[in-house]
Amino acid sequence: MDLTASGSDIERVIVTQEQIQARLKELAVQVERDYAGRDLLLIGVLKGAVMTMADFARALQRHIETDWMAVSSYGSGTKSSGVVRILKDLDRDILGKDVLVVEDIVDTGLTLAWLKSNLESRGTKSVEILTMLRKPEAAKVDVNVKYVGFDIPSEFVVGYGLDFNEKYRNLDFIGVLAKHMYS
Ligand code: 5GP
Repeated sequence: MDLTASGSDIERVIVTQEQIQARLKELAVQVERDYAGRDLLLIGVLKGAVMTMADFARALQRHIETDWMAVSSYGSGTKSSGVVRILKDLDRDILGKDVLVVEDIVDTGLTLAWLKSNLESRGTKSVEILTMLRKPEAAKVDVNVKYVGFDIPSEFVVGYGLDFNEKYRNLDFIGVLAKHMYS
């Protein structure tokens, strides 16, 4: 769905579809270079990272494997709870693998810090992180995010996989949700 179709729900656009695709191509080139000669497993974090994973995986001009995890973080509100729970685990063993976690957004970084150490505890060779969006808060947490699509202001955004109460995931851009939609 595009901006016109989304009506007054969106206050303003943060990243356009064109910007997303162009940035993913740049990140793909970087990842191809960094993992040259090595197998690579992309782990997408459901459900927010579905769009990023789909487009990023297709931007890569090399073979990869994919798997998915689902963890709970926000519930149905707009504030991070800090409580992480595995809702769906990986389908396979990741012992000895080079893993790249594909995320939608890093806000407090609590989810990611937990996820990274959880994956590392399974005997991976390496675990790096790619996120489409990063908020300023993330800088305060000691978790190294190697590949970042866009640094954005500390506002609640939706679209391109990111939801509010399961809505707006199908926007083809990323925008700030109008305050009247949740206050
Ligand atoms: P963190 O633990 O880094 O604070 O939260 C990460 C998770 O919170 C993300 O994977 C995402 O599900 C959710 N989240 C954080 N900020 C936003 C936002 O602006 N919009 C939406 N829709 N979800 C967010």
